[in-house]
Amino acid sequence: MLVDNHNRAINYLRLAVTDRCNLRCNYCMPEEGINFAKNDKLFTIDELVRLSEIVVAHGIDKIRITGGEPFVRKDLMVLLRSLSKLEGLNDISVTTNATLIGPHINELKELGIKNINVSMDAINRETFERITRRNEYDVVYNNIIRLITEGFNVRINFIALEGQNTEDIIPMLELTKHYDVSVRFLEEMPFNGGSKKFQTIKWDFKTILEHIRNTHSEYYKLESPKTSTSLNYKIPGFKGTFGVIPSFSRTFCGSCNRLRISATGDVITCLYAKASMNLRDIMRGDDVTENIKEQILKAVGSRAKTGFEAQEKYKDVFSNSMTSIGG
Ligand code: SAM
Ligand code: SF4
Repeated sequence: MLVDNHNRAINYLRLAVTDRCNLRCNYCMPEEGINFAKNDKLFTIDELVRLSEIVVAHGIDKIRITGGEPFVRKDLMVLLRSLSKLEGLNDISVTTNATLIGPHINELKELGIKNINVSMDAINRETFERITRRNEYDVVYNNIIRLITEGFNVRINFIALEGQNTEDIIPMLELTKHYDVSVRFLEEMPFNGGSKKFQTIKWDFKTILEHIRNTHSEYYKLESPKTSTSLNYKIPGFKGTFGVIPSFSRTFCGSCNRLRISATGDVITCLYAKASMNLRDIMRGDDVTENIKEQILKAVGSRAKTGFEAQEKYKDVFSNSMTSIGG
């Protein structure tokens, strides 16, 4: 079991498999992209499997595959096949933009991978295409509906972006009327590769909830696991649920159970902290199992207590892009 220096058990790894993406969401990276890592700087599939085996042996029982867009890696399913056989790993989840998942839906089901988070920040086509800077609306929408109807546990992540998509919050909730899906509204964070700087946000979780309350005054709160980052709600009579994630307000740090490893091997112990070390060369050296274990224990043993504490120490952290961090 991994336990951090604030006595929080760490059992959840967010593992990025690439920093590349076929979309260019304007809250995530600049139009021209970022300085993407060269292929030899990314972990290979064998290395990702080995890394997963090591962390699972030390108490990680949930791995979320993220990116960049995980499905731009042509060998992603090879990784997922191996992870699905890994004893002790109880939950494999994927976060995706759902543009490329279509051909893999049947196999994901066969592998027992049920938890899929999809980013969709607008239900209106023009708004969606303006935010993502690409024309993939139909593919994304149809894949989301297919995933839901095939029985996946789908959560839609919608970042509330001032001046861009907040008029879509209520229409997006309509999906939960007809489908068993969870729509989660996230606060925007300033990890966009330097394209936009801000110190405060207008659309924090309280404002989002007030906005929803004006139309659906009868919604009520649901019980959530202690380590959940979302506050979850239901509108009576609706099939699905909705949630808010205070990712910028950071109300959930006290129960944070997660560790992040970027596609290039950076170990990130808090979203608001810089990488504390890099595992890639260690993975390519001798005594891999022992050395990786040692580094992970070191990272987990020196975590910031909260995102605010981390931000204080790493003032320039906001030049990062979420496509490198993995969300
Ligand atoms: N490409 C996949 C996707 O979009 O779902 C996975 C990677 S993406 C970086 C992971 C998550 O980070 C997504 O839910 C995305 O909406 C979120 N994200 C990206 N930039 C963000 C930002 N500036 N503030 C808050 N969330 C952000
Ligand atoms: Fe790509 Fe996801 Fe970033 Fe959008 S949020 S640009 S889909 S990595």
